[in-house]
Amino acid sequence: MIDNKCGKCNGTGWVINNRNGKEFASRCECQKREQVLNKGEKANIPLRFLGAELDGYEPDPKNPSQERAKKKIKSFIEDYPAVSEGLLLQGSIGLGKTRLLCSIGFELIKKMNIDVYYIDWNDLVREMKTGEDHSSRDFYAINQLINRLIGVELLLFDELGASHVSPWVYDNIYYLINKRYNHKKIIVCATNFYDNPSEGKESLTQRIGDRIRSRLHEVTRVIEINGNDRRLEI
Ligand SMILES: [Zn+2]
Repeated sequence: MIDNKCGKCNGTGWVINNRNGKEFASRCECQKREQVLNKGEKANIPLRFLGAELDGYEPDPKNPSQERAKKKIKSFIEDYPAVSEGLLLQGSIGLGKTRLLCSIGFELIKKMNIDVYYIDWNDLVREMKTGEDHSSRDFYAINQLINRLIGVELLLFDELGASHVSPWVYDNIYYLINKRYNHKKIIVCATNFYDNPSEGKESLTQRIGDRIRSRLHEVTRVIEINGNDRRLEI
């Protein structure tokens, strides 16, 4: 799918190069972007953030935590796969965490063509809920999804703790995170809940429980993002 005709290849997808007097054709850069976007789509990255580059994230100068977050994410992408732990982005709603999460996926597909999968807590819970009612339990579908989330090289797990879950669903999410932990697989998460929230607000542990929080503690580094809801400021 080529929207606007590319100036380099005139929309053909191929460019002619000349090396040592010999001409040869190679894929145009615009095609590479298409391939990355296709892969991002297969990785379940929301359309809204498909192709979101990290550079496009503009930190609010009033909140230095945003610039710090961007820098840390940039080095994570640069260092990958030589990273020993994943990331856990903590910040209240509207600070662009989902966008940042998707950028990590997009940039790493672009850089190394790695296998990525994006999942949102509520979507995962909804999928698994079909397994709670014995009569309609579809273990095959649930197992398939969980195995995909365990097997993928990089898991982007958004909206951690967005809803309270039943013990059965909880056990499944723990199983997934624990399996990845055992296989030393990198996970990058985002959540609206802080470890040390302001008075009267629930903490991340209250939302996702001790077991999951402590596993994540071992496999991710916290990046805290503060500020006002960006969507309201525009
Ligand atoms: Zn082109």
